[in-house]
Amino acid sequence: MNKFRAFSQLAEALPEATSIRYNTLVYELQRKHKDVTVLSLGESFFKIPLFPFKTLNYEKGYHYSHSRGVLELREELSQYYKKHYGVASDPESEVLISAGSKVILYMVLRTIICPGDEVIIFEPAWVSYTEQVRLSYGIPLMVPHYEGITDIGTYLTERTKAIIINNPNNPSGKVYSKKELQELYRFAQKHNLYIIADEAYSDFVDEETFYSMGRFDPAKKRVIVVNSLSKNMGMSGLRIGYAIANEKIINMLLKINQHLITCPATLIELYVIRYLDKILRITFPQIRRVLRERREISRYMDSIGLSRLSGTGTFYFMVSIAPSKLSSEAFASRLLKKHYVAVVPGIGYGKSLDAYVRVGVGTESVARIKKGLDRLQTLIKETTSYYGRDRR
Ligand code: PMP
Repeated sequence: MNKFRAFSQLAEALPEATSIRYNTLVYELQRKHKDVTVLSLGESFFKIPLFPFKTLNYEKGYHYSHSRGVLELREELSQYYKKHYGVASDPESEVLISAGSKVILYMVLRTIICPGDEVIIFEPAWVSYTEQVRLSYGIPLMVPHYEGITDIGTYLTERTKAIIINNPNNPSGKVYSKKELQELYRFAQKHNLYIIADEAYSDFVDEETFYSMGRFDPAKKRVIVVNSLSKNMGMSGLRIGYAIANEKIINMLLKINQHLITCPATLIELYVIRYLDKILRITFPQIRRVLRERREISRYMDSIGLSRLSGTGTFYFMVSIAPSKLSSEAFASRLLKKHYVAVVPGIGYGKSLDAYVRVGVGTESVARIKKGLDRLQTLIKETTSYYGRDRR
């Protein structure tokens, strides 16, 4: 091909986000009036009323706002982290708000990665970490799901720059203990690494308590905390995410934010400032409801013999399809096209996860989820290979 017409190799090599690809297939089937059981969405649907926009300052809301995010919202979010998780931050200099945490994670990677730097990522890994590292000219080093924090030393090289930890984990629901996090922090300290702590599901914890990585590092030397309103407050459509980090890093993020996003939608920021307390009072009990349902579904999986990676938080399960001879992609595709149940193939969360699919339980009724799981179990049985398959 004419080299002047060639696309960027990075963009060419980029796969679609597996979860979004499956959800697009769902929308297409739904357009054809198929009744799809949607266990593929990365959301939990809360009932949240629409509060009046009329009382907001339109004059301000129609225009660009501060590129760090409106100060009052930074203050609110800073207080939230202090009150709920014991992490203090200066809203003037240590907090940045942008259009969702996904782009913030990318900006963080662009800030700390030099070409060829390596980033350690634990599998199962949320679908965008690896691709964002690659887009930042970095190299993702994947830790398979059957290894853990204690094995991380094996993955360390001269080029290791950072570790990404997603706590609680999407897609397994694993909530890391304080001890595990402490071990990881000490490792990062010893080898002078950054820790990118993606805490998007911090309120979705059941039996264990959530411990923010930020607590180990009050001076914010190496921990960069990223969170958002998408999951904890059930408002992914508002596109509000935030980072808490030291002033130097926030100033770097700010520059990238100015060139990529400018600022989050100002009117939405004003809306959240005005109504955040009310929204939290409404959404908190709904998180408890989702976690109760998660427990019920977990018991149901036990009763029909579906095994999964251990986890108690979030609204996801990483369900094993191991006896099936199908790859996770072929399995999810057949489950959707033949049985109208949508899940996400495990391979999207790392090579060590091809014998798993992600099941999200935040958007369907418990009764429909159970029926969906029955169909999933039936498909495993229908496609079981006598010899099995080594997919560790
Ligand atoms: N991190 C994790 C672990 C997620 O699951 C998601 C969304 N699925 C994000 C970050 C990004 O969320 P948002 O951009 O809506 O804040």
